[in-house]
Amino acid sequence: MPTALYPGTFDPITFGHIDIAVRAANIFSRVIAVIADNTTKNPLFSVNERLEMARDALAHVPTIEVIAYRGLIANCLEERKATAIIRGLRALSDFEYEFQMAFTNRNINEDAETVFLMPSAKYTYLNSTMVKQIAKFGGDVSGFVPEHVAQRLVGKYRQQNGL
Ligand code: ADP
Repeated sequence: MPTALYPGTFDPITFGHIDIAVRAANIFSRVIAVIADNTTKNPLFSVNERLEMARDALAHVPTIEVIAYRGLIANCLEERKATAIIRGLRALSDFEYEFQMAFTNRNINEDAETVFLMPSAKYTYLNSTMVKQIAKFGGDVSGFVPEHVAQRLVGKYRQQNGL
Protein backbone atom coordinates (compact mmCIF):
# COMPACT_ATOMS: atom_id res chain seq x y z
CA MET A 1 0.00 0.00 0.00
CA PRO A 2 2.24 2.88 -1.19
CA THR A 3 2.12 5.96 0.98
CA ALA A 4 3.44 9.38 0.01
CA LEU A 5 4.27 12.34 2.23
CA TYR A 6 3.43 15.83 1.04
CA PRO A 7 5.52 18.18 3.19
CA GLY A 8 5.22 21.93 3.34
CA THR A 9 4.62 25.02 5.43
CA PHE A 10 0.99 25.40 4.31
CA ASP A 11 0.81 28.98 5.68
CA PRO A 12 -2.05 28.86 4.73
CA ILE A 13 -3.16 26.02 2.47
CA THR A 14 -4.17 27.28 -1.00
CA PHE A 15 -5.99 25.82 -4.00
CA GLY A 16 -2.49 25.11 -5.40
CA HIS A 17 -1.63 22.86 -2.44
CA ILE A 18 -5.03 21.17 -2.64
CA ASP A 19 -4.57 20.56 -6.37
CA ILE A 20 -1.23 18.80 -5.76
CA ALA A 21 -2.53 16.77 -2.78
CA VAL A 22 -5.50 15.51 -4.82
CA ARG A 23 -3.26 14.60 -7.76
CA ALA A 24 -1.01 12.67 -5.37
CA ALA A 25 -4.04 10.88 -3.92
CA ASN A 26 -4.92 9.73 -7.44
CA ILE A 27 -1.54 7.99 -7.68
CA PHE A 28 -0.81 6.77 -4.13
CA SER A 29 -3.15 4.76 -1.90
CA ARG A 30 -2.40 7.07 1.02
CA VAL A 31 -1.14 10.64 1.16
CA ILE A 32 -0.01 12.33 4.36
CA ALA A 33 0.25 16.11 4.19
CA VAL A 34 3.02 16.97 6.65
CA ILE A 35 2.91 20.45 8.12
CA ALA A 36 6.34 21.66 9.14
CA ASP A 37 6.44 22.50 12.82
CA ASN A 38 10.09 23.56 12.60
CA THR A 39 10.03 25.89 9.65
CA THR A 40 12.50 28.76 9.43
CA LYS A 41 9.89 30.72 7.50
CA ASN A 42 8.30 32.52 10.48
CA PRO A 43 4.71 31.59 9.56
CA LEU A 44 1.69 33.85 10.03
CA PHE A 45 -0.41 30.98 11.41
CA SER A 46 0.51 28.66 14.28
CA VAL A 47 1.08 25.03 13.49
CA ASN A 48 -2.34 24.17 14.97
CA GLU A 49 -4.08 26.77 12.84
CA ARG A 50 -2.30 25.48 9.71
CA LEU A 51 -3.24 21.94 10.68
CA GLU A 52 -6.93 22.80 11.16
CA MET A 53 -7.15 24.70 7.88
CA ALA A 54 -5.43 21.91 5.92
CA ARG A 55 -7.63 19.23 7.55
CA ASP A 56 -10.76 21.16 6.62
CA ALA A 57 -9.55 21.79 3.08
CA LEU A 58 -8.66 18.14 2.46
CA ALA A 59 -11.47 16.46 4.41
CA HIS A 60 -13.27 15.58 1.17
CA VAL A 61 -10.51 13.10 0.23
CA PRO A 62 -10.63 10.15 2.65
CA THR A 63 -7.19 8.81 1.70
CA ILE A 64 -5.45 12.06 2.69
CA GLU A 65 -4.33 12.51 6.29
CA VAL A 66 -2.87 15.75 7.68
CA ILE A 67 -0.27 15.77 10.45
CA ALA A 68 2.19 18.22 11.98
CA TYR A 69 5.81 17.15 12.25
CA ARG A 70 8.86 18.55 13.93
CA GLY A 71 12.00 17.08 12.41
CA LEU A 72 13.51 15.87 9.18
CA ILE A 73 11.12 14.72 6.49
CA ALA A 74 13.48 11.86 5.64
CA ASN A 75 12.92 10.53 9.17
CA CYS A 76 9.17 11.04 8.97
CA LEU A 77 9.25 8.94 5.80
CA GLU A 78 10.75 6.04 7.70
CA GLU A 79 8.45 6.41 10.70
CA ARG A 80 5.36 6.42 8.51
CA LYS A 81 6.67 3.68 6.20
CA ALA A 82 6.13 5.98 3.24
CA THR A 83 7.92 5.57 -0.07
CA ALA A 84 7.71 8.96 -1.70
CA ILE A 85 7.90 12.67 -1.03
CA ILE A 86 5.52 14.77 -3.11
CA ARG A 87 6.49 18.31 -4.10
CA GLY A 88 4.74 20.70 -6.43
CA LEU A 89 6.67 22.26 -9.28
CA ARG A 90 5.40 25.55 -10.55
CA ALA A 91 7.80 27.69 -12.51
CA LEU A 92 11.43 27.05 -13.30
CA SER A 93 12.27 29.20 -10.27
CA ASP A 94 11.17 26.33 -7.97
CA PHE A 95 13.61 23.93 -9.59
CA GLU A 96 16.99 24.77 -8.03
CA TYR A 97 15.70 24.67 -4.45
CA GLU A 98 13.61 21.55 -4.99
CA PHE A 99 16.51 19.75 -6.69
CA GLN A 100 18.78 20.53 -3.73
CA MET A 101 16.19 19.36 -1.23
CA ALA A 102 15.45 16.13 -3.09
CA PHE A 103 19.15 15.22 -3.04
CA THR A 104 19.54 16.23 0.59
CA ASN A 105 16.64 13.99 1.54
CA ARG A 106 18.13 11.13 -0.43
CA ASN A 107 21.48 11.65 1.29
CA ILE A 108 19.80 11.29 4.67
CA ASN A 109 17.57 8.40 3.63
CA GLU A 110 18.54 6.65 0.42
CA ASP A 111 15.00 5.31 -0.02
CA ALA A 112 13.58 8.83 -0.20
CA GLU A 113 12.18 9.27 -3.69
CA THR A 114 10.84 12.70 -4.51
CA VAL A 115 7.96 12.88 -6.97
CA PHE A 116 7.24 16.23 -8.59
CA LEU A 117 3.73 17.06 -9.71
CA MET A 118 2.55 20.03 -11.72
CA PRO A 119 -0.58 21.88 -10.68
CA SER A 120 -3.36 22.96 -12.98
CA ALA A 121 -2.08 25.89 -15.10
CA LYS A 122 -4.38 28.29 -13.27
CA TYR A 123 -2.49 27.73 -10.02
CA THR A 124 1.00 28.01 -11.49
CA TYR A 125 1.63 31.47 -10.05
CA LEU A 126 -0.23 30.93 -6.80
CA ASN A 127 1.64 30.84 -3.52
CA SER A 128 0.82 31.43 0.14
CA THR A 129 2.98 34.56 0.34
CA MET A 130 1.02 36.27 -2.42
CA VAL A 131 -2.30 35.29 -0.82
CA LYS A 132 -1.17 36.79 2.51
CA GLN A 133 -0.11 40.03 0.81
CA ILE A 134 -3.50 40.37 -0.88
CA ALA A 135 -5.42 39.59 2.32
CA LYS A 136 -3.29 41.97 4.37
CA PHE A 137 -4.37 44.89 2.22
CA GLY A 138 -8.03 43.88 2.15
CA GLY A 139 -8.06 42.23 -1.28
CA ASP A 140 -10.30 39.34 -2.30
CA VAL A 141 -8.60 35.96 -1.94
CA SER A 142 -11.66 33.81 -2.64
CA GLY A 143 -10.16 32.60 -5.94
CA PHE A 144 -7.03 31.32 -4.19
CA VAL A 145 -8.08 29.68 -0.92
CA PRO A 146 -11.19 27.93 0.46
CA GLU A 147 -13.79 30.16 2.14
CA HIS A 148 -12.85 29.09 5.69
CA VAL A 149 -9.19 29.97 5.03
CA ALA A 150 -10.17 33.36 3.59
CA GLN A 151 -12.13 34.06 6.78
CA ARG A 152 -9.17 33.11 8.97
CA LEU A 153 -6.93 35.45 6.96
CA VAL A 154 -9.34 38.34 7.46
CA GLY A 155 -9.53 37.52 11.18
CA LYS A 156 -5.76 37.27 11.55
CA TYR A 157 -5.05 40.64 9.94
CA ARG A 158 -7.86 42.31 11.91
CA GLN A 159 -6.31 40.95 15.09
CA GLN A 160 -2.84 42.15 14.02
CA ASN A 161 -4.20 45.62 13.29
CA GLY A 162 -5.95 45.64 16.67
CA LEU A 163 -9.41 45.96 15.09
P1 ADP B 1 7.70 24.85 1.69
O1 ADP B 1 8.08 25.83 2.73
O2 ADP B 1 8.09 23.45 2.04
O3 ADP B 1 8.08 25.22 0.29
P2 ADP B 1 4.97 25.46 0.91
O4 ADP B 1 3.73 25.35 1.73
O5 ADP B 1 5.34 26.79 0.39
O6 ADP B 1 6.10 24.83 1.79
O7 ADP B 1 4.87 24.47 -0.31
C1 ADP B 1 4.71 23.08 -0.12
C2 ADP B 1 4.74 22.38 -1.46
O8 ADP B 1 3.60 22.76 -2.20
C3 ADP B 1 5.95 22.75 -2.32
O9 ADP B 1 6.34 21.62 -3.04
C4 ADP B 1 5.40 23.79 -3.25
O10 ADP B 1 6.11 23.79 -4.47
C5 ADP B 1 4.00 23.25 -3.45
N1 ADP B 1 3.09 24.32 -3.87
C6 ADP B 1 2.71 25.43 -3.19
N2 ADP B 1 1.87 26.18 -3.92
C7 ADP B 1 1.69 25.50 -5.09
C8 ADP B 1 0.97 25.76 -6.30
N3 ADP B 1 0.26 26.87 -6.47
N4 ADP B 1 1.05 24.86 -7.28
C9 ADP B 1 1.81 23.75 -7.13
N5 ADP B 1 2.53 23.45 -6.04
C10 ADP B 1 2.47 24.32 -5.04
